[in-house]
Amino acid sequence: MSILVYIEQRDGKIRSVAREALGEAKRLAATLGGPVVGVHCGASDEGLASLGEAGAEKVLSAKHEAFARYEGAGYAAAVAAAVKSVSPKLVIFGASSIGKDLAPRVAALLGVGLAADCTSLDAAGGKLTARRPVMAGKAFERVAFPLEPAMATLRPKVFAPAPPEAGRSASVEPLAFPWDASKPRAVVTGTTGATGGRPDLTESEIIVSGGRGLKGPENFTLVEQLADALGATVGASRAVVDAGWRPHGDQVGQTGKTVSPKLYVAVGISGAIQHLAGMSSSRCIVAINKDADAPIFKVADYGVVGDLFEVVPALTEAIRKLH
Ligand code: FAD
Repeated sequence: MSILVYIEQRDGKIRSVAREALGEAKRLAATLGGPVVGVHCGASDEGLASLGEAGAEKVLSAKHEAFARYEGAGYAAAVAAAVKSVSPKLVIFGASSIGKDLAPRVAALLGVGLAADCTSLDAAGGKLTARRPVMAGKAFERVAFPLEPAMATLRPKVFAPAPPEAGRSASVEPLAFPWDASKPRAVVTGTTGATGGRPDLTESEIIVSGGRGLKGPENFTLVEQLADALGATVGASRAVVDAGWRPHGDQVGQTGKTVSPKLYVAVGISGAIQHLAGMSSSRCIVAINKDADAPIFKVADYGVVGDLFEVVPALTEAIRKLH
């Protein structure tokens, strides 16, 4: 039995969540057996064969001119058709903004359950289970899948891509799918990048986030300078987004983005449970806060108790010197 992986693209570029999902599928295939098959929705199938290096044996290509941008109903029809065609044991998506919209649509079309935002999958004894955070990250639950195919979205940056197998290519096959493009229920007319040339928050390896401790929007230059020194993306707490200091696209947390970078630096952020829900799975957390009792220190790997207006410029300077 196969494992089907949704190959996410944006602006024609394969996103890193797709490689992470392929890596996890390859790891699970060692226990569950069966080939790893990708399904791609886009306006072109260029470059899909190279996904063989990331673990795909075959990629089903749902090509349509309307698929240059995300098209929820059309993409869902295509992925559901791929499921019917290959009868996989498991279907996985990245828990990106596209995956979070697409996976429930596909699950509803097929009448199966969905484990969302998983941080691990297990196939011990051939039985699939998933671990996922619940209650804003206060607890984890383990779920089993009574119906087939099992369906899950994977939290970005938690799963490792497979080591690339140079020169290995995937076969690419066109996928037929039932969808009437002339009767869309909703049309995406445009998208706006909000991060000013920096990588998208959910794709970033390093994030420097600022909170209300910065006292005002003008002081975010301190966060931006540290982010530039580290090659990082800038994030924010909801308090500063609500205050209009930063755009909503920068917000990390329960009602913002979920991120799992290698390094997360929290500057002047208290660490409310709703903020932790969006970043506590980061691999290394550094907190800078003048209050030694701030809850952020409970999840931090490294903490600096001090005034950010002194600590951040000194840290930025030290990192610049290192580079
Ligand atoms: P504060 O809590 O005010 O913390 C500021 C911190 O800065 C303090 O710890 C203080 O000690 C420190 N500080 C002050 N001055 C300095 C200095 N000079 N040097 C060093 N440190 C200093 N929040 C999110 O972030 N994301 C979400 O998605 C989110 N969703 C929510 C959803 C719901 C339903 C609700 C009810 C709340 C949500 N919140 C969310 C809000 C959350 O509860 C907190 O209010 C918010 O995270 C606080 O932001 P903050 O840490 O920047 O501000």
